[in-house]
Amino acid sequence: MRHPKYDAVIVGAGIGGLVCGSYLSKQGLKVLIAERQNKPGGCCTSFMKGRLSFDAAVHNFASCRPRGIMGSILGELGVNDLRFEQRKIVDLVFSSGMKLKFFRDKTRTIRQFSRAFPKEKANIQKYFDFIDSFDFTANYVWFYKTYVDRKFIDVLKSYFSDEKLIALLCVPVLNVNMPFSEMSALSGIMLYREYIMDGGYYLDGGTQRLADALAAVFRVQGGELLLSKKVDRILTQDKLAKAVTLSDGTVIEARYIVANCDATQVFSRLLDDSIFTSTYLKKMQALKPTMSLFSVYLGLKNQIRNEVKDAGTIWHFDKYDFNRSLISIYAGRKKYLSDGFAFCVAPKVSEVEAVEGTREKMYIFTSASYGDPAYWQNNKRRLTGQLIERVKKHYPGLIRDISFCATATPGDIEKFTSNYRGATCGWAYSSQQIQSQIVKRNCAIRNLFFCGHWVNQPYPGGVPGAAFSGKATADLIRNHLNMTASAEKKESFVNNG
Ligand SMILES: Cc1cc2nc3c(=O)[nH]c(=O)nc-3n(C[C@H](O)[C@H](O)[C@H](O)COP(=O)(O)OP(=O)(O)OC[C@H]3O[C@@H](n4cnc5c(N)ncnc54)[C@H](O)[C@@H]3O)c2cc1C
Repeated sequence: MRHPKYDAVIVGAGIGGLVCGSYLSKQGLKVLIAERQNKPGGCCTSFMKGRLSFDAAVHNFASCRPRGIMGSILGELGVNDLRFEQRKIVDLVFSSGMKLKFFRDKTRTIRQFSRAFPKEKANIQKYFDFIDSFDFTANYVWFYKTYVDRKFIDVLKSYFSDEKLIALLCVPVLNVNMPFSEMSALSGIMLYREYIMDGGYYLDGGTQRLADALAAVFRVQGGELLLSKKVDRILTQDKLAKAVTLSDGTVIEARYIVANCDATQVFSRLLDDSIFTSTYLKKMQALKPTMSLFSVYLGLKNQIRNEVKDAGTIWHFDKYDFNRSLISIYAGRKKYLSDGFAFCVAPKVSEVEAVEGTREKMYIFTSASYGDPAYWQNNKRRLTGQLIERVKKHYPGLIRDISFCATATPGDIEKFTSNYRGATCGWAYSSQQIQSQIVKRNCAIRNLFFCGHWVNQPYPGGVPGAAFSGKATADLIRNHLNMTASAEKKESFVNNG
């Protein structure tokens, strides 16, 4: 049998693909990653406008402690030259006339919430102790068995009766951009543990640095990264994945194919859909993605001296019952969150940016449904103005002098990342979808694997979730290789014996 040149070809250099490729190449496998954009990172990239650099999507990192998901992966891969700075406040929430802060240190968070809701003081303590008891390495299986079929909101209701408190405690769920009433208990607990108790990190130099650092490790280990190369097809024979075809017609054979790109693209365009049963395809099509975002990137000439600069994300909701609007957006009935928004301020600007007159960089965003691209084209100027005015109204003095302004609609997110309907975090983390595991790390086609945020499993979402899934897929391929090698050894012993 002719051996293909590559052990594995990965479609997409998002964080999931880069992590998977780095683990595989670390084991000595010959790996190629084909990425359609001209830089690695997918959602985790930065872009330049003149001499200004903006983080395109990811603004906050989580789980970076040495034993955290990101921290341990970066440690194992030898990515040591990144500086994650910890902001003082992870999330700062303004709603219904209240101001609440989430800190990494649970005692400080408990103090904040107990002051605002004195009657619930004992329950607040119990709730945070419960979240803190989750440990990926020690008790994941117990949490999985106990919470996989439950909703996060029901966990909160088992501790609290005050609806306002429940809603405010659910704000961190918006890090994965879905209505909190739909969130799975398991994902919610993990997200809380990783995004709040170890969240609010800013990567010095911008988010592109993470993708570039992983790409550098991958290359040093012998991996090949092809940029500006779109994969058009995944070729199969008798339900065995054999090769990919690039848009320039090049065919690259590999023993394993890993899809880090949007799963709907894989099933509808990259593969021949007749391979799958119609029941499976229907189930796949019924899965719901997380929502999209409408984003505004601002350069400011004025300096911000305010606590918002110390916070990872500042969330603002006119009223605490914002989940209703989220449900409407999730269902496509509403275009965007008209009664809420969020923003982040970059902790630093570079010297070059300061010399050019930009002293702050701000990212304002609001959950949005994909809808009709024409709607966003026709309304993006108006919405940009509206979001800027809302920040100005609620936080006087923050935006005084704008040096630069750009926007990204759901369609822009889809165009850049190829993520279905501009989804920010892959499939929604509802208990139903997590249990169904319709898109797993492997599938009915042998030697075809998936990694990244479109794997339908109970990860905490975002960058740590994509990275974790990349590592888990690399483990699965290694096990598969070991099993095949021992089977081949047995066979050759029998043949020769
Ligand atoms: C606006 C926004 C803000 C976010 N903010 C945060 C945040 O602050 N913190 C956080 O943790 N998470 C955040 N997330 C979520 C997080 O960025 C993602 O969940 C994670 O980065 C996904 O990584 P991935 O590897 O699964 O996929 P992706 O990043 O989507 O990467 C997939 C890659 O595949 C490539 N590709 C697709 N099709 C093809 C093809 N046919 N051929 C070749 N290449 C292809 C794409 O170009 C892309 O590079 C945000 C996401 C968005 C969109």
